Amino acid sequence: MGTKGKEIVGAGAKEIIGLLNKALADEWLAQYQYWVGSLIVHGPMRPDVQEELREHEKDEHKHANLLAERIIQLGGRPITHIKDLEKMANCPYDEPANDHVLKILAQNIEGEQCAIKVYSDMLKRLMELKDPVTYHIIRSILQDELGHEQDLQDLEADIKAI
Ligand code: FE
Ligand code: FE
Ligand code: MG
Repeated sequence: MGTKGKEIVGAGAKEIIGLLNKALADEWLAQYQYWVGSLIVHGPMRPDVQEELREHEKDEHKHANLLAERIIQLGGRPITHIKDLEKMANCPYDEPANDHVLKILAQNIEGEQCAIKVYSDMLKRLMELKDPVTYHIIRSILQDELGHEQDLQDLEADIKAI
């Protein structure tokens, strides 16, 4: 980042990079969980569930990109080792051990709820740290996560109503 950009973020940059890297770890774990879940899921409304999981997988990938790009802009380095993804994540990776649609949906809903909490807390901190650019990025990601939670809960309700 250029000198003026650095001046604006100031001393908070290091902390912000840390928060962004933890979120980056969450996004990669979420992405994998959706990807593998969409492949193994079975049960009622399977094609609809698969389509939704794949869509969310793509969104989590976009989120990871947004986070990594901002980390680099701030002069940081995105996580480079795969083992650090699980170590640094805020939200635990939840292995889809049971392939049933309702189990997979419940796990992913829990994951989205964790993400919503993490991003909401991050927004509060970013307000204090006065970084409007990162704030804006996180706010737009949070909006996606709220949509994800709703889409999964809608699917869950439809399947339970069959
Ligand atoms: Fe995400
Ligand atoms: Fe999500
Ligand atoms: Mg969706």
